Amino acid sequence: MTFLEKVNERINEVPIQRCYHCRKCTAGCPMAEIMEYNPNKIIKMVQLGMEKAVLESKTIWLCASCETCVTRCPNEVDIARMMDVLREMALEGGSRIAEKNVVQFHESFLSSIKFGGRINEPLMMVLYKLKSGDLFSDVVMGVGMFLKGKLSLVSPRTKDISAVRNIFSKTKS
Ligand code: SF4
Ligand code: SF4
Repeated sequence: MTFLEKVNERINEVPIQRCYHCRKCTAGCPMAEIMEYNPNKIIKMVQLGMEKAVLESKTIWLCASCETCVTRCPNEVDIARMMDVLREMALEGGSRIAEKNVVQFHESFLSSIKFGGRINEPLMMVLYKLKSGDLFSDVVMGVGMFLKGKLSLVSPRTKDISAVRNIFSKTKS
């Protein structure tokens, strides 16, 4: 199975080859300027089978999943879903992760959601610091945010936490 076929199989919607490179996705992407390959280029690379370069690129980790590209695409290519798929493939295949500490950040975010069903910033920050080993870099900013009431020590919890945990167990996260 080619790289393109593997990506299409996981997206399971509009196939990537439907893209005709009009660049409307890239023109609207808020992260394109700091990506090493913009969304349109990543699609081209997937079409060309450049698996290693794509899975080891920073781009797939810099995508903010905002879906602006999806709403702009005249061919309904789901670029945000494709980026998700590429991240999954990079993790599963043991690819070199180009963005420092991004996996630890994702894991901390998910642990926080699993705990209370909603984002718990202090918990997430502690988990991230422990996982990344980057203990002191944001201490001053964290204290400042706490003093301004932007960080609460009270943990927000969703009413039906079992529904959230059910999602995690079904996706084996
Ligand atoms: S907007 Fe759609 S068709 Fe145009 S380059 Fe992006 S993915 Fe391809
Ligand atoms: S979903 Fe990702 S690729 Fe698409 S516009 Fe947002 S940041 Fe850019």
